[in-house]
Amino acid sequence: MILDIVKYGDPVLRQKGERVESITSEITKLIDDMLETMRSAHGIGLAAQQIGRTLQLATVDVTGVEDRPSRMTINSKNVEPEDYMPLILFNPEWTTVGETTETGPEGCLSFPEIYGDINRPEEIEVKAMNEKGDNIKFRCGGLLSRAIQHEYDHLHGILFIDRMDGLVRSNLKSDIDIIQAETKKLLD
Ligand code: ZN
Repeated sequence: MILDIVKYGDPVLRQKGERVESITSEITKLIDDMLETMRSAHGIGLAAQQIGRTLQLATVDVTGVEDRPSRMTINSKNVEPEDYMPLILFNPEWTTVGETTETGPEGCLSFPEIYGDINRPEEIEVKAMNEKGDNIKFRCGGLLSRAIQHEYDHLHGILFIDRMDGLVRSNLKSDIDIIQAETKKLLD
């Protein structure tokens, strides 16, 4: 089932998600709905807050994005990221690998038509629980790393506009304000 995507201005986007400790049938259904919703919106990531749920759950799928490559390493072996998509991440944590950061454009399904450059660590190590309830660990770089950091932020009530530098954000301010005003009108 395709779910409605929450837009900026809805307070749920500012709430931290609760940890998920077990994969119930309700959670399995939620994963299916989030994947369907993410794909129908042509997104590469979706966090539970974006469909109105305050849970530590995000879906990511960078399949088919050719102009912005991704890298993935499991147990020190380079793997093909597409073989591991979609990623279902519960309670994800990450740490930076190395000191390289990269500035790149980002969008967000909760901010239609808004894109801005954001600087983030280029390579990270991720730990999470997957949809089978197993603990997983991998390293990633490029677009996949950026997408996971973006979704991790959502799970903690942080939005990509918070990560933009002042000039980028001020250039987008009027468009962001319009989305916020429309959302608030719908919520009233
Ligand atoms: Zn987002």
